Amino acid sequence: MTLPESAEALPIKNLARLENFGHSLRSSAYLFAPQDASELARAFELADARNLSIGLRGAGRSYGDAALNSGQLVLDLQAMNRIQAWDPKSGVISVEPGVTIAQLWKHVLGDGWWPPVVPGTMFPTLGGCLAANIHGKNNWLAGTLGEHVKSFEALLPNGELVVCSPEKNKELFYAMIGSMGLLGIFTSITLQMKQIHSGDLSVSAWASGSFEGMLDGIDGSKTADYVVGWIDCIGLLGHAGRGQIHRADYLKMGEDPDPSQSLRIDHQELPDRFLKLLPKAWLPLLFRPATNNLGTALTNTAKYWHNRTLVHNKTHLQSLVAFNFLLDYVPNWEQAYLPGGLIQYQSFLPKATAGDGFRELIALCKRRGLPSYLGVLKRHRPDPFLLSHAVDGFSLALDFQVNDRRRGDLERLINELDEIVLQAGGRYYFAKDSTLNAAKVQRFLGDETVQKLRKFKAQTDPEQLLQTDLYRRCFVN
Ligand SMILES: Cc1cc2nc3c(=O)[nH]c(=O)nc-3n(C[C@H](O)[C@H](O)[C@H](O)COP(=O)(O)OP(=O)(O)OC[C@H]3O[C@@H](n4cnc5c(N)ncnc54)[C@H](O)[C@@H]3O)c2cc1C
Repeated sequence: MTLPESAEALPIKNLARLENFGHSLRSSAYLFAPQDASELARAFELADARNLSIGLRGAGRSYGDAALNSGQLVLDLQAMNRIQAWDPKSGVISVEPGVTIAQLWKHVLGDGWWPPVVPGTMFPTLGGCLAANIHGKNNWLAGTLGEHVKSFEALLPNGELVVCSPEKNKELFYAMIGSMGLLGIFTSITLQMKQIHSGDLSVSAWASGSFEGMLDGIDGSKTADYVVGWIDCIGLLGHAGRGQIHRADYLKMGEDPDPSQSLRIDHQELPDRFLKLLPKAWLPLLFRPATNNLGTALTNTAKYWHNRTLVHNKTHLQSLVAFNFLLDYVPNWEQAYLPGGLIQYQSFLPKATAGDGFRELIALCKRRGLPSYLGVLKRHRPDPFLLSHAVDGFSLALDFQVNDRRRGDLERLINELDEIVLQAGGRYYFAKDSTLNAAKVQRFLGDETVQKLRKFKAQTDPEQLLQTDLYRRCFVN
């Protein structure tokens, strides 16, 4: 899948049908997998000569159309996955953009380090994570991934190779991180890892019977290293909004009697069988019949009572991988939503409006007969990046099944949700979004930010070579 030698013809064998993570969007594009930075430069020349645009793609784990570029070129950057330098003394690592979160933690763990910010799955690439400026279950404490970047090198469509850091090319540093691959290609990323003294976390879980209790429980856990809430958005008998909170803390030096054991990769590996019996590959197929309102209501109720009775307020040790990448327990779980797939609606509300705003979202989804089958609540803090999604408040991520029969209903519901979020001063996250339009993006980012982005784009990419379906949907009026 290397680039063609001439700009004459685009090989038909490279025409690929790409999807978003949730399998709800599909688009064809000419897919190439460059091996190094010189091939990236050739790709820009090719696109320019053919009057085509280039979309960048890491592991394709964005929920929406961030890594799709219909009918155009897409560069899959996963082959550029070398670890370039690692200093176990300082915890500073330099990687190519295709290195995944899994590769990263496996490389540094044995030396007593862990990535400071990780998403809920270990499969994304660092390039994709920096382009989205991901947050973890520790966002209010650790900030976004970009806050741990010491520097990056990027190839701009205008041909420049730049190095940016909080000191050097500072403005571009804060603009490129989080700008979804629209200003340039990260070719090398240097990050500070976090020192740890055990491969385990001390985890406690408790259930809360109301949404207020969930917000208070999460806000009251700001002394924790990680905290996350799982919301039951159906809530039989009027209990929508209740859920479980999981809090986790790193072990301090001396608390783990044998860190050399817990810091081993095999201590972290997730089991390949469910309940030690079923091959996990079967699970999405088995879950599919239960992926509906009733099935989810019963599962949520069972989870709630399990937490309320058996594990309520109990503390146990859990590996870093098991806690952070809970969703990876079931590989390909999103296939349970087939054939229509899923979209995620993650909105971020300031603390003052989060309670009323999110309660309204949950209630409205239920009233419209389209409740979310997975609701995740997190605490956030603002960050200094141009296209920041974060607020001093909370985010609620809602997963919706897409099905042809109710596609129009879902679209109408999302429009209603948008009004609530925008009026409550909310923000959105491009790694998750698949439904906003340019007017709504302008409303949440503000005119000044959109103008600044346009200015950066004109400087780094005057020919508009870097584009994606998301770019055209959200930034082209
Ligand atoms: C199960 C699951 C859980 C998740 N949990 C979280 C979470 O907790 N927190 C969170 O913040 N996110 C979360 N995400 C979202 C995910 O972290 C982001 O979508 C991330 O961007 C995916 O990385 P990727 O390598 O798959 O990139 P892709 O999805 O392939 O691409 C993402 C963006 O990066 C751009 N890009 C890719 N490589 C480069 C490069 N080298 N230079 C410049 N731009 C580039 C692409 O053009 C695109 O705009 C989750 C996703 C899944 C599937």
